[in-house]
Amino acid sequence: MDTRFFTTWIEGIAKAVAENREHLTALDAAIGDADHGANLDRGFTAVREALAAAPPDSPGKALTLTGTTLIRKVGGASGPLYGTAFRQMGSVLGSAPDVTPSDLATALEAAVAGVRKLGGATEGDKTLLDALAPAAGALRRAVQNGTKTEDALDAALTAAREGARATIPLQARKGRASYLGERSIGHEDPGAASTVLILAALRDAAGG
Ligand SMILES: [Mg+2]
Repeated sequence: MDTRFFTTWIEGIAKAVAENREHLTALDAAIGDADHGANLDRGFTAVREALAAAPPDSPGKALTLTGTTLIRKVGGASGPLYGTAFRQMGSVLGSAPDVTPSDLATALEAAVAGVRKLGGATEGDKTLLDALAPAAGALRRAVQNGTKTEDALDAALTAAREGARATIPLQARKGRASYLGERSIGHEDPGAASTVLILAALRDAAGG
């Protein structure tokens, strides 16, 4: 997977976020402050502009530029959390021109660790980690089993989807939704939902 693969991924995320902006906003309206769709759309629009203005020459640089731009442009919790996730991935991949599926699994694991550290959340708290952590785990297992890239990324997407769906019956223990207590039960976490879009764009970048 080369720089072009990663810029295709990021462009795909921007497109999916724009298309699902109202859906993410509706999810956040139920248990938060109804800004997740608008925030992420603004952030990934800025990411698109940043990539066009200074085309990166490695996968790591593409991801780091994405993370830095999200931190700069997106308020609330999601900017710093997603920004950290992308910056961690960029940091792991460094300036290597090509990324193996195993490298990508390592990068996703670093994203999980970064998000966990910054947000202080763990799986089951009803956050984006509930989609991101199982996706990283599924990718790692698929890579270890020698699964071809497209199918490995499909397994990661499936795990993210299942993890996001599993947030519905949970009570939020982190973030703004936690203020609602038991009233947060019965709604999908918006961050987990946007993580599914990110993993779907990754699978699609591999031609899935
Ligand atoms: Mg919000």
